Amino acid sequence: MTVAIFPGSFDPITNGHLDIATKAAKAFDELYIVIMDNTNKKYFFCREERVAFIEDAVKDIKNIKVITRPEQLTVAVAKELNATVMVRGLRNNEDFIYEQQIANMNKKLAPDLETALFFASPENASVSSSMVKEIAKFGGDVRPFLPKLAATAMIQRLNNE
Ligand code: ADP
Repeated sequence: MTVAIFPGSFDPITNGHLDIATKAAKAFDELYIVIMDNTNKKYFFCREERVAFIEDAVKDIKNIKVITRPEQLTVAVAKELNATVMVRGLRNNEDFIYEQQIANMNKKLAPDLETALFFASPENASVSSSMVKEIAKFGGDVRPFLPKLAATAMIQRLNNE
């Protein structure tokens, strides 16, 4: 049985993340989406909100579990969960260079852990959590980029500010 982890900050989960998680859940037996949470970092959504948005978005995919971990080496999280694969998403060349650096470093730290990169679907290739937050801040419609619960929460939050 192959266990994989998909770590990230998911602040909030976007359709791009969801697309990668869906593909990875088909490729591996069990997938943990790991929300890395750094208590010193300022997130737009708190840990509980980020968990709730992801859980709602993946509720129909039975082999996905959503967990949070304090931000730490992802190789340590993989070891704890007996995961042998680390899933990441690729949108463009910049992501590639970044992910290659992380993968090379992780290979040194955990030789048995493989990184699996999944390409973003073309419609999600320009979507990022930070871009969506910018769009929301200036009153743009975020619904095309986010799973339902995350979009609703974002709209509500900005209406209340
Ligand atoms: P991190 O802070 O670790 O980069 P993110 O939540 O921003 O966390 O992203 C987690 C992973 O998802 C990264 O591998 C990132 O490249 C990937 N990702 C982010 N947005 C998309 C997208 N639109 N399509 C595909 N992969 C994506």
